[in-house]
Amino acid sequence: MNYRKKLMIITALLFASQYIVAQTSGYQKLDDWVTVWKSAQQTTFGYPANQVSPLHSFYEWYVQAGMDVVNLNNAGDPMTDNPERLSSQAFEREVIEFFAPLYDFDKDNVWGIVTHSGTDGNNHGIYYGANYLRNKTKLEPIVYVSDEAHYSNMRLAHLQNLEVKLIKSDPMGRMIPEELEKGLDLTRPALLIYAMGSTFKGAIDDQEALNAVLDRHPEIPAVYRHVDAALFGGYLPFTDDRRMVSQKAMRFESIAISGHKFFGIDSPCGLFLCTRDVYDNQADFNVTYLNSNMRMINCSRDALQPLKFWWLIQTVGYDGWAKQARQMRECTAYLKQQLDAIHWPCWVNQYSNTVFFRRPLPEIVRKYTLAQGYDDRFGGKLAHVVVMQHVTKEKIDQFIKELKH
Ligand SMILES: *Cc1c(COP(=O)(O)O)cnc(C)c1O
Repeated sequence: MNYRKKLMIITALLFASQYIVAQTSGYQKLDDWVTVWKSAQQTTFGYPANQVSPLHSFYEWYVQAGMDVVNLNNAGDPMTDNPERLSSQAFEREVIEFFAPLYDFDKDNVWGIVTHSGTDGNNHGIYYGANYLRNKTKLEPIVYVSDEAHYSNMRLAHLQNLEVKLIKSDPMGRMIPEELEKGLDLTRPALLIYAMGSTFKGAIDDQEALNAVLDRHPEIPAVYRHVDAALFGGYLPFTDDRRMVSQKAMRFESIAISGHKFFGIDSPCGLFLCTRDVYDNQADFNVTYLNSNMRMINCSRDALQPLKFWWLIQTVGYDGWAKQARQMRECTAYLKQQLDAIHWPCWVNQYSNTVFFRRPLPEIVRKYTLAQGYDDRFGGKLAHVVVMQHVTKEKIDQFIKELKH
């Protein structure tokens, strides 16, 4: 072996060793956990988490820039504060301004924050909605939400001591407009929570039909619509169905979206956006020592998540997300078609990337981390797959093969 070749091999080994060293922590328990988790990640089909992390370059930058030793906190209002303190609020504001037009908010008629989660966004929507309605009418509002909506809405309404009317949904999971009409209390302000989508079947409430019901009753003292769009609110703006998340077309006051679902941020976070009118109808909380008007619910907010969002806007951007949305929908149609081909009873809602079907054997449910449901109208035991970015056609083929056995 000549000298050049030896040198090349040594260089290659040195290069590879960095990665081998990087893979072990020195703690057996941690290393074992990483191994188990990395293999499970490949077949996690049942929950709406994008397992294709787009943040490797972000972490490289963050450490290289020495920011991993800085304690950041976005306590305050990103839309009005002059971010002098140790925060990333300037970036948080740019994130809100990037997303506002995607949900059809006017730039000068929007307020928003990067939240801790979809649930945190719903908490703000319900809290702001109730305060907005009280401020306008001096009456206590009633919350209307479908019985298939995400449980966080019922939990939060309970937490906020609000009266809730659960409205029946149709078999596919959409709130029934006639049931809403029957349930309406015309003497009290109405706080509508629209499910986008429902947890198990991935149904989207028909906002136009429900709005038509509300329009037929102008005697209702005031109306507020919050859209719980944790998953669908991520990808619909990048499709031809963006009208479904248009603030102007659907006339909602606020919307909540998760950051760790479609956008693939690696830990929980989200977006909350509302109109200025909503924000202006909240009580002031001028906190002197923060030099800020703290109308939002939490004091501290994560400063890393807005930076990650901002990074993704630069590195993935509109075109990247549009491509991912297209691919997810193609794979959703593919999964439905492959299940049909083996005559496995299955259903999927319009606009949805959630395919629900007759529940397979427990081994398969376990291996693919399928979420489980039950509905007699669909033959009883059910399971679902949420087709996120990592659920590719190849993995679907493998899944179908195992289902047939
Ligand atoms: C996931 C989800 C939630 C909960 O969001 P988190 O970000 O997990 O708190 C609420 N509503 C809907 C429709 C969801 O899909």
